[in-house]
Amino acid sequence: MVPQTHDSDILILGAGGAGLFAALHAHKAAPELSITVAVKGLLGKCGCTRMVQGGYNVALAKEDSVERHFMDTIEGGKWLPDQELAWKLVTLAVERVRELENELGCFFDRNPDGTVHQKAFAGQSFDRTVHKGDLTGIEIMNRLAEQVWARRIQRLEEHRAVELVRSADGASIAGVLFIDMRTGDYVFVRAKAVLLATGGGPTMYRYHTPSGDKSCDGLAMALRAGLRLRDMEMVQFHPTGLLAGPHTRMTGTVLEEGLRGAGGFLLGGNKERFMPAYDPKAERATRDIVSRAMFSEIRKGNTTPHGGLYISMGHLGADRVRQEFKGMVERCADCGFDLAAGLVEVVPTAHYMMGGVEFAADCTTSIPGLFVAGEDSGGVHGANRLGGNGVANSTVFGAVAGDAMAAWVTKFGHLVEASGAELEAAIERCERPLRAARGDLEALREKLHDTMWERVGIIRDEQGLTRALAELDALDAELESTGIGSSARAFNLSWHDWLNLRSLVAVSRTIARTALARQDSRGAHYREDFAQTSALETSAYTSIGANGEVTMKPVAFTRVLPGQSLLKHAA
Ligand SMILES: Cc1cc2nc3c(=O)[nH]c(=O)nc-3n(C[C@H](O)[C@H](O)[C@H](O)COP(=O)(O)OP(=O)(O)OC[C@H]3O[C@@H](n4cnc5c(N)ncnc54)[C@H](O)[C@@H]3O)c2cc1C
Repeated sequence: MVPQTHDSDILILGAGGAGLFAALHAHKAAPELSITVAVKGLLGKCGCTRMVQGGYNVALAKEDSVERHFMDTIEGGKWLPDQELAWKLVTLAVERVRELENELGCFFDRNPDGTVHQKAFAGQSFDRTVHKGDLTGIEIMNRLAEQVWARRIQRLEEHRAVELVRSADGASIAGVLFIDMRTGDYVFVRAKAVLLATGGGPTMYRYHTPSGDKSCDGLAMALRAGLRLRDMEMVQFHPTGLLAGPHTRMTGTVLEEGLRGAGGFLLGGNKERFMPAYDPKAERATRDIVSRAMFSEIRKGNTTPHGGLYISMGHLGADRVRQEFKGMVERCADCGFDLAAGLVEVVPTAHYMMGGVEFAADCTTSIPGLFVAGEDSGGVHGANRLGGNGVANSTVFGAVAGDAMAAWVTKFGHLVEASGAELEAAIERCERPLRAARGDLEALREKLHDTMWERVGIIRDEQGLTRALAELDALDAELESTGIGSSARAFNLSWHDWLNLRSLVAVSRTIARTALARQDSRGAHYREDFAQTSALETSAYTSIGANGEVTMKPVAFTRVLPGQSLLKHAA
């Protein structure tokens, strides 16, 4: 099958905060270049940046500093973050927020004196989270999308990237193979520089928060192209996902952290509090501690009708809860729960992947011409991401990538011939489910969710991880021989389900393998058989490639050593 072919100087995969910032910055730096944004959904309407509720971390206040934001990020990440990446995050976040407000047209909430309002978020030593009510992501994405529409930037919407294709000599990136989801035709876009910004997304877990278009496609493509991924065992769970039964997408969506912050209680199926037995801060402990305690209670069988736990707010006064948490009260009511005066079923939910493609501070990767930014990249957050550092990450590094790609294309870039063999093999892999006998994709997805939730989730051990790897191998083999029972291509959602599962299984294996390799517990990764955190001075991160071998690479403490602080030095 011969794909249609287009050429573009710069090709951006994904239209979240990272992809759209990259497009705007590349266009500003070199307006003469052709730029294409290709996205699985509709530009501005998909991905997780739009779902950001809480806000954006940035050191703006006089009493705050980038050093303080940096130390919170490093300590929150349990000394695993790459310190140069983290430094870039905190320093450039200041520029990006100014750009969002003054050039791109965002209105963030303000104090009576006109300064930007910044609220408290967990794990931070200063209230530095900029926001627009609790709809910050919509404000950012609407303004970014308008600005992209207003410029000469090409759009390929409902185009799903399926393979990063290298040059015939394998020395650089040649372009990307897509399926035009509306017709089912293959499209190959040749480009001088390509940005991977498809946003990760741990949707392989039974309960998860990210948008349905996210299925780790970028990470799976990166692995096949020969890139290495770091910190893949670090998957963040948010403690309070709504649990409204298996047949609604509302299950897994986040009930905000502020509920616990305001004094909400978590109760077992027996309607008694359990958190005080796990941590002195009880419900106000950090996300990892609360999620672990909840998972332990669930394992003991102390559960609600749907197999989760309860959150209870009524003791704070129903009127107060209705007033302070209007959106959450309405969301719960939509699912038949009374948050203000009754009990709501909740469960920890997979929220964010700290792991991703290994990259340098200018967003380059080990493949010349291929760049990465946002949630597809690894190393900024280490073992844990602070709430509010996610959208900062995608906008900061999206902008860096846009600038770097414009410079790269202007200096070195030229279109190269793609490897015909890679292109053919990629199409062949996508064609398999159209030919094979119909199977039960739903059952395969359930198996994947069970394996990842039970054995590669919040509490792990060697036995469970080893079993999970065997189950993932079996799942992979079963998927390869499973068809979708139709050769129709146009908007064939079963075909895309199959492709989603293929990416999720490949990336799940990297999570399980790195989780098995890391023999200590820190941040989001908890091993029951290695419950202690090993010496911070010898911290190492996991690095995995397509062959599945994991290497431990030492963290370079380029700015501050464990036990020290930039704040003391700055004082
Ligand atoms: C419910 C929720 C609340 C959150 N709240 C906060 C918060 O308050 N503060 C914070 O800092 N962070 C928050 N986050 C995290 C934050 O949303 C992400 O860290 C960040 O927005 C990721 O940006 P991104 O550009 O990398 O990816 P996204 O914004 O997810 O964009 C990815 C893009 O890639 C596209 N794509 C995917 N696969 C393909 C493919 N194969 N081909 C083409 N395109 C593809 C998608 O359609 C999408 O356009 C939240 C996340 C969720 C889920």
